[in-house]
Amino acid sequence: MTAEMPRPGSRSLLIAGGGLPSLALALALRQAHGPALTVTVIDPGAADPGRHRGRAYALATGGRRMLEQLGLWTRVARAAEPITAMVISDSRLADPVRPVFLTFGQEDEAMRAANEPFAHMIEAEPLAEALAEACRAAGVIFVTAGVERAASEGPAIRVGLTTGESLRGDLLVAADGARSRLREAARIGWVGWSYPQVGIVATIGHARPHEGRAFEHFLPAGPFAILPLRDGGTLGHRSSIVWTERAGDADALLSGEPDEILTEIERRFTLDLGQLALEHGPSRHPLAFGLARAFRAERLALLGDAAHVIHPIAGQGLNLGLADAAALADAVTGALRLGLDPGSPDILRAYERARRFDSFAMAAATDGLNRLFSNDALPLRLARDLGLGIVDRLPGLKRFFIGEAAASRGSRPRLMRGEAL
Ligand SMILES: Cc1cc2nc3c(=O)[nH]c(=O)nc-3n(C[C@H](O)[C@H](O)[C@H](O)COP(=O)(O)OP(=O)(O)OC[C@H]3O[C@@H](n4cnc5c(N)ncnc54)[C@H](O)[C@@H]3O)c2cc1C
Repeated sequence: MTAEMPRPGSRSLLIAGGGLPSLALALALRQAHGPALTVTVIDPGAADPGRHRGRAYALATGGRRMLEQLGLWTRVARAAEPITAMVISDSRLADPVRPVFLTFGQEDEAMRAANEPFAHMIEAEPLAEALAEACRAAGVIFVTAGVERAASEGPAIRVGLTTGESLRGDLLVAADGARSRLREAARIGWVGWSYPQVGIVATIGHARPHEGRAFEHFLPAGPFAILPLRDGGTLGHRSSIVWTERAGDADALLSGEPDEILTEIERRFTLDLGQLALEHGPSRHPLAFGLARAFRAERLALLGDAAHVIHPIAGQGLNLGLADAAALADAVTGALRLGLDPGSPDILRAYERARRFDSFAMAAATDGLNRLFSNDALPLRLARDLGLGIVDRLPGLKRFFIGEAAASRGSRPRLMRGEAL
């Protein structure tokens, strides 16, 4: 284990889990406080960027501003494609045409006012690489181990690792994913359920350019999203798909030969983008809803999927995790600047206040959208078709879809507003 001797009087933050939001938090705090705060990321994969291969995320404006503020955007921009328009359709798989019910694009007032793409599709592996490299350069310590247990010990918290070693810190961040062992050990309640759906992710090559357009086809089994990536691959152009399918059907669909899987993708993709090729994947992901009853316990803060798991229908899970990281960075920075203990209840309460409502609102909205769209009942089809027409006419609701409405800009954490800590 690499260990930096903490400076006398310095504080120590331990982060269990090295996912993207954790690395963003570690980097932000080291950049802001240097040796005054020792930051240790503990993960059995120790932030290995390779495990993110083939994944890409829709990064909303707040997340992009955060990466700019951390000095990372210029390094990852070559792996990011701006989404300049979104086309939404609602139909059955057998329907010969997919009527378009809703489009967002530069012609929309909300987007013109923002004067920037509403999101970028960013490839996760180069983003993880850039974050891990910047963390190392900033002096973040990486420990290759799992956290087994944690217990408060006087004015500190001690964690026991799978290697038999233990570490002591002022604050422990549980960023150990949806099935957080630390959340359970702290007896924090969890309201959650599994969706009877899985998410299938793949990178698709295509002959015609996407021109920055994202497509979301609402099919009876769930949404089928085609999200633009940087040009490349065997056919010159690429998109990432997030294909929601009934769990019972997914095994049969994915057990075929690659050309059979590609045929199934073509049926859903339509031929708008010309000839298709399977460039990476498919990989299969269980889908669930979950929300922690509290985002904190004694000297413990939950972050990312450990605090909330949402349906990928709106591509917002990572964005919520980055907003957690930015809010926790605000709270810890406020404490350190005043010489206060960053693990004290007041600091953790401020973090929880900043994040719980936003997380609940997004989890409820994505669950509601999935319930509304992932079925084939006629009255519901009619209602949602009318609903989409209404959404298309209301700039306020559109702003929600383009990620600008979850929290008013003023109440957003500083890094999400593009401001320094
Ligand atoms: C199909 C699909 C598509 C998605 N698309 C989008 C999108 O377009 N945009 C978006 O914003 N979000 C998207 N998401 C959501 C996004 O993937 C997650 O919200 C995000 O990756 C969560 O990051 P995390 O670090 O909290 O958790 P994870 O990425 O799960 O990381 C948890 C980490 O904790 C480590 N760990 C586990 N146990 C321990 C332990 N005991 N000790 C130490 N470390 C431990 C693990 O090794 C892992 O590295 C999508 C999700 C799915 C399923």
